[in-house]
Amino acid sequence: MRLLIIGAGFAGMYAALSAARLRDIEGVSPDRFQIALVAPVPTLTVRPRLYEPRPETLTAPLLDVLDAVDVDYVQGHAERVDTTANEVEIMTRDGRRRTLAYDRLVLATGSRLFRPDIPGLAAHGFSVDTVDDAIALDRHLHGLGARPATRARNTVVVAGGGFTGIEVATEMPARLRAILGATADIRVIIVERSDAIGHDLGPGPRPIIEEALDKTGVEARLTTGVTALDAAGVMLSNGERIEAETVFWAAGMRAAPLTAQIPAERDNFGRLVVGRDLRVPGVSNVFATGDAAKAACDDAGTIALMSCQHATRMGAFAGNNAAADLLGLPTMTYHQKAYVTCLDLGSAGALFTRGWDRKVAFVGAEAKKMKQDINTIWIYPPKAERAAALASADPARVTDL
Ligand SMILES: Cc1cc2nc3c(=O)[nH]c(=O)nc-3n(C[C@H](O)[C@H](O)[C@H](O)COP(=O)(O)OP(=O)(O)OC[C@H]3O[C@@H](n4cnc5c(N)ncnc54)[C@H](O)[C@@H]3O)c2cc1C
Repeated sequence: MRLLIIGAGFAGMYAALSAARLRDIEGVSPDRFQIALVAPVPTLTVRPRLYEPRPETLTAPLLDVLDAVDVDYVQGHAERVDTTANEVEIMTRDGRRRTLAYDRLVLATGSRLFRPDIPGLAAHGFSVDTVDDAIALDRHLHGLGARPATRARNTVVVAGGGFTGIEVATEMPARLRAILGATADIRVIIVERSDAIGHDLGPGPRPIIEEALDKTGVEARLTTGVTALDAAGVMLSNGERIEAETVFWAAGMRAAPLTAQIPAERDNFGRLVVGRDLRVPGVSNVFATGDAAKAACDDAGTIALMSCQHATRMGAFAGNNAAADLLGLPTMTYHQKAYVTCLDLGSAGALFTRGWDRKVAFVGAEAKKMKQDINTIWIYPPKAERAAALASADPARVTDL
């Protein structure tokens, strides 16, 4: 029998480890129960760090840890899912098509940046959605040093004042000064459609965010959208033009497109609506998890966010439950009580909140240290040592801060 997991992100990694853990507990051999993970590369992209310099270093290898728990890595990109035949067709790096049969499937294909059809966005917009996007931004920023020192060269427009937009914008002045010189006259402007930066984070963190924008010198244009981009700047919905040689796009995420092939309900973000054990209702043998799934994380119906924090724990539940279903064991109800937010604010420090109402717990250097610990330790894969790796994926224990 085969459990197939698509995706090597936070959710896919923990789904694989957790399924292997249950197989181990039940004393079933990997020859009788194969767990296979398919992804284009056997590395975890540490997406929450992609706004940092040196993005080419922000991946972590997965082959050793998968080997240590007897999970097979299959190189490929899943192109087609046939939920009637219980088959997935993949395209390998060398252009071959392969069909993989499954007995249970865990869809952990994550998310992508939402790029609307705005003139010039595809050609001129930068992002930190993938490692390649982040490397392209980094190269562009370094290339600015060789250009004439105009106002447009020194100006960065960040479209979208949500979590990623805030982290990129507050980091940008220091990052640009490291390239253009300490005295460069840097201008960073967030353009945001709603009436507040960090609107979705609620009113609690707002004063801290506003203070950080002030400290880092980041400007804001509220209730305004970017309507067109070109190589030299942007047009805004209020008719204003901003000359800027760097335009950064951070206006929301959508589930990766494979979810559309599953004949089931999806939400506005393209996430598959799943039941409490992360099974896709009405579709035999399929579970969805992480950013690919819309799941309640408590009995009150609070919906898990597209976040690393939720993807990690959802992954552990989905892998456990798919394996349990295959072994004829009861599945577990996904629950995630604690919710925290840790937002980097560049040279102004960081912000740490607890609870869904995002009560500010601490700020400044203390929050910055927490952010660094989360980003450099907590979200990395476990050591490639069998017992520790299996234990790390116990669904009852995986991060519930
Ligand atoms: C810039 C940025 C900053 C962020 N900051 C934070 C933060 O501070 N805190 C936080 O909690 N979250 C943060 N997030 C969100 C977090 O990174 C995501 O929620 C998390 O990565 C979701 O994990 P996942 O495993 O569901 O998906 P992903 O990490 O997106 O992984 C998806 C995997 O599926 C693979 N895949 C996709 N399609 C296919 C296919 N067809 N075939 C095979 N493989 C496929 C991909 O290659 C990848 O391996 C941030 C995201 C970004 C982009």
